[in-house]
Amino acid sequence: MEEDTKAGPPHVLIFPFPVQGHVNSMLKLAELLAHAGLHITFLNTDHNHDRLVRYSPDNLARFSGFPGFQFKIIPDGLPADHPRAGERVMEMFNSLNSVTKPLFKEMLFTDHELQSIPGSNRRAVSCIIADGILSFAIDVGNELGIPVIHFRTIGACSFWAYFCIPDLVEAGELPIRGNEDMDRILKRVPGMETFIRCRDLPSFCRTKNILADPNLQLFVDQTRQTPGARALILNTFEELEGPVLSQIRTQCPQIYTIGPLHALVKYRSVGSKTTSLQSQSLNSLFEVDRNCMTWLDAQPLKSVIYVSFGSIKKMTNEEMREFWYGLVNSKKRFLWVIRLDMVDGKDGGDDDQIPSELAEGTRERGYIADWVPQEEVLAHQAIGGFFTHSGWNSTLESIVAGVPMLCWPCSADQQPNSRFVSEVWKLGMDMKDVCNRTVVEKMVNDLIVNRRDEFMKSTVEMARLARESASKGGSSYCNLDRLIKDISLMGV
Ligand code: UDP
Repeated sequence: MEEDTKAGPPHVLIFPFPVQGHVNSMLKLAELLAHAGLHITFLNTDHNHDRLVRYSPDNLARFSGFPGFQFKIIPDGLPADHPRAGERVMEMFNSLNSVTKPLFKEMLFTDHELQSIPGSNRRAVSCIIADGILSFAIDVGNELGIPVIHFRTIGACSFWAYFCIPDLVEAGELPIRGNEDMDRILKRVPGMETFIRCRDLPSFCRTKNILADPNLQLFVDQTRQTPGARALILNTFEELEGPVLSQIRTQCPQIYTIGPLHALVKYRSVGSKTTSLQSQSLNSLFEVDRNCMTWLDAQPLKSVIYVSFGSIKKMTNEEMREFWYGLVNSKKRFLWVIRLDMVDGKDGGDDDQIPSELAEGTRERGYIADWVPQEEVLAHQAIGGFFTHSGWNSTLESIVAGVPMLCWPCSADQQPNSRFVSEVWKLGMDMKDVCNRTVVEKMVNDLIVNRRDEFMKSTVEMARLARESASKGGSSYCNLDRLIKDISLMGV
């Protein structure tokens, strides 16, 4: 690489793992850094960039308002018709390693727009903020002598659970010995000794082959690599996860907690002359149905349960039917996101096969959408609860909106998240490992009717803490300033 002799702002390359939740939160970070005057290269896969152009054109246009901001496109190595959802998301790790990694390296070596351009004040890349699950980006950065900061899109609670897995294996607490062993409390996750059960560990731990399961190995290895990075950025806030963060700091002392990022994006714009930061930066890879907002406007205060299982989860037809009956039988209003690619072996979506009681209950009290503006939905006054898969972004969005959660975690970090939501933060209930219409009916009613006051007390308080941390003088607000200052000192 050419030597950089320019004195422009620091140039940060940001590279997310190419799925909705990761792209969304890392674009928010990119927006915050660009807003502070840093030069940003956001590396997006061709597949996702096409989708952003198609489904979020207004949002993309905002980035052109930042003079030092550029998108760069790189292939993810998968064929165009690959689903990039459900369990097949894991196939992306191989294609990224074999196809994207060499291209990434070449880009950093040869692309003049990433290096110092004679006559311009764009410096060479002075820092890489890489998704912590893209270990190849970290290797390449190290090889080229560029400081690498890891960004994890999961909460501190899940990061720490992943980190402790080798210790659990060494102590004989893993593997899990069958279904009857799932409620055993684990003693070797410091800070969680009293409440974390086998069933609350990341889903990849549900394997007999604990020492050789490739998925588990992948996530554990990547998490264990983080202490070698320059620093770790987490989309969380001290007031939510302070005790777990203290544990992580014993291994990774340099941590920037700068969450909830979507709240920070909102509050950073206050008092600023640059108005490009907005409260709703959608960054959506799916076509948004805005009519759901009109439907919500017509519903009574806190009467609707919002149902969404994120951008990757696939369901079986049977699971969908159980939820559908549960929701209709609860007699509560519901807004349900069923992505077009969500249901495996789908027959329930065809109108002529839907049982009449479901069709009628949905017509009377329900609205089914392919994809909604979730932050806006959660902030709507008609929403009384969130039936969620406990993805970390969804969890944070619910916290900021002060909406209690009914959790049905599906995979990966969602298992620990839902335990923390129910047992530690008391922000809702955990329906983990159960998919039954009677249970859904009861829990929906408990969430938004019977136990509503109990949950509202804790959700209101946590929402206040979240907003405070993202406001001027708050912990996340100050940590972002510290991050910007520390990046400015890199590569000088
Ligand atoms: N989301 C959305 N509209 C929807 C469903 C989800 O905008 O209809 C967004 C949601 O706001 C969140 C992201 O998609 O930011 C999902 O991320 P999360 O970490 O919760 O789950 P994942 O999709 O990674 O499983």
